[in-house]
Amino acid sequence: MDARTRGNYRMLSDKELVEYARSARENAYCPYSGFAVGAALLAESGRVYLGANSENVSFGGTICAERAALAAALTAGERRFLALAVAAGDTPVAPCGICRQALAEFGDLTVLRAAAQGEEILRTTLSALLPEAFLTYRPQDGEERRAHG
Ligand SMILES: [Zn+2]
Repeated sequence: MDARTRGNYRMLSDKELVEYARSARENAYCPYSGFAVGAALLAESGRVYLGANSENVSFGGTICAERAALAAALTAGERRFLALAVAAGDTPVAPCGICRQALAEFGDLTVLRAAAQGEEILRTTLSALLPEAFLTYRPQDGEERRAHG
């Protein structure tokens, strides 16, 4: 199975996207929890954006790997996403509730859950992980094109 679900972009396997997440995990800053998380977000453009958890002594300042990847992608101008891989721990992890909500802003996508090592990849969707997400606004097709004139 591959991470391609729609759109025109280069082929990327689930395993490749998980490996991107694992590479991001190597840069996690997690001195308080010791729980390193990596995420890789595949945009419809075919580009992959990485994130790692970034903890802070003021715990509320901590940013999850998934939202770090999302922020990197948004900063680069991406708004449409196909798949997210997250890798951490001894068994496949899932994005936390805040990250699910943050991603839901941009529509549904494939979610690949993996441990820090090993072959197991659990494939699901954001809508399965966060049914009935809170949404009052969602970017429409072509909106970014207009916004950039
Ligand atoms: Zn999170």
